[in-house]
Amino acid sequence: MSEKQTHPNPPLSGREATAPPLTSGGWEGFCELCNQDGGEVIFRNDFLRVVLVDDAAYPGFCRVICNAHVAEMTDLEIPQRSAMMMTVCKVEQALREVLQPDKINLASLGNMTPHLHWHVIPRFKHDKHFPQPIWGVAQREGKSSLPLDWHTRLIKNIATQLSATATPA
Ligand SMILES: [Zn+2]
Repeated sequence: MSEKQTHPNPPLSGREATAPPLTSGGWEGFCELCNQDGGEVIFRNDFLRVVLVDDAAYPGFCRVICNAHVAEMTDLEIPQRSAMMMTVCKVEQALREVLQPDKINLASLGNMTPHLHWHVIPRFKHDKHFPQPIWGVAQREGKSSLPLDWHTRLIKNIATQLSATATPA
């Protein structure tokens, strides 16, 4: 388990607002998710990892990231696709149990970082962008009413949900 990122401006922000540097080598030359965890790692196996994104406006925002550099779900073998989606569902389940959000948003964009990853985002009616996507226009200041121990409980719950997860062949 890595330390919580405290960098004031993490390169891969919660809203993918920061594009990686465009090098002459293009995407093959640099990939943030090949070179960094992409957040606080709370689960990892040979195939994928689950990270908690350091975004003050969106506590509990998780990403499920394929360890290998592939762009699309259909680049994966069928058992891997299933394992990826099962993990997304288990993270969603953990977020619902611990944070009791008004809605869960699932998204796989990767336009700026074309390395397969799913965003699993707990949404609340009082959050900064609701009912817009978190990448949309801010609707209000946003506030959090989560219990103080949400971080500890979430990590424990996700670890429990994923402890039986097998790595696809
Ligand atoms: Zn990559």
